[in-house]
Amino acid sequence: MIGILGGTFDPIHHGHLRVALEIHAALGLDKVHLVLSARPPHRSAPRATPEQRLHMLQMAVAGESALVADDRELRRHGPSFMVDTLRDLRSEYDDKPMSLILGMDAFRGLPHWHQWEQLIELTHLVVVQRPDTTTPMNATMRQFLNQYQVNLPEQIFQQAAGTILMQPVPSLTISATKIRMLIANDDNPRYLLPDSVLGFIQQQSLYTF
Ligand code: ATP
Repeated sequence: MIGILGGTFDPIHHGHLRVALEIHAALGLDKVHLVLSARPPHRSAPRATPEQRLHMLQMAVAGESALVADDRELRRHGPSFMVDTLRDLRSEYDDKPMSLILGMDAFRGLPHWHQWEQLIELTHLVVVQRPDTTTPMNATMRQFLNQYQVNLPEQIFQQAAGTILMQPVPSLTISATKIRMLIANDDNPRYLLPDSVLGFIQQQSLYTF
């Protein structure tokens, strides 16, 4: 089974990378595709260009065979809808199970995503807690969770899509917002993200204001 972790990765950081690797190990996944949301439709425009964000993503996963830097949303035209990416991956992987990995903040915001009710038809959802997410889930999401939640990882291997698994992972309180703020304030973000990525940020003078 493959995992999919979508993000703007503005920039990619150790929160993303650890979650991807923890889920890879916990579920015994073949690969986790880190899918760059090139033109995210449901949030403000990223600070770095899609090409810069892809470059940082590629540097971050270099030499790690479990993780794939997936640029398919950059190669597509128009807004980066996850549902289109999942359809694309579904045609590659036929009826094999697939899991979309989401932090709790992303899960709670799902109803804002294009054709969000289609997502669960195409993939399983694996939801991880984020230490800085405290707001409770609304009624729509609670009902959605009740309808599809399974309790054991084994259960998601029995069908290609259609379940939600809440998977505990060791949590890192890291966000791209925090990293951008540290850089803008001339503070040191080292060890929150790979050194190679930080070197590129400095070389390109990203996030300095
Ligand atoms: P920003 O601060 O710019 O909103 P972010 O750090 O939340 O960025 P995204 O690229 O928006 O990063 O996140 C992509 C996915 O990774 C989302 O599903 C998000 O919930 C998840 N994620 C990001 N950081 C963490 C973390 N520290 N722990 C768990 N999940 C995370």
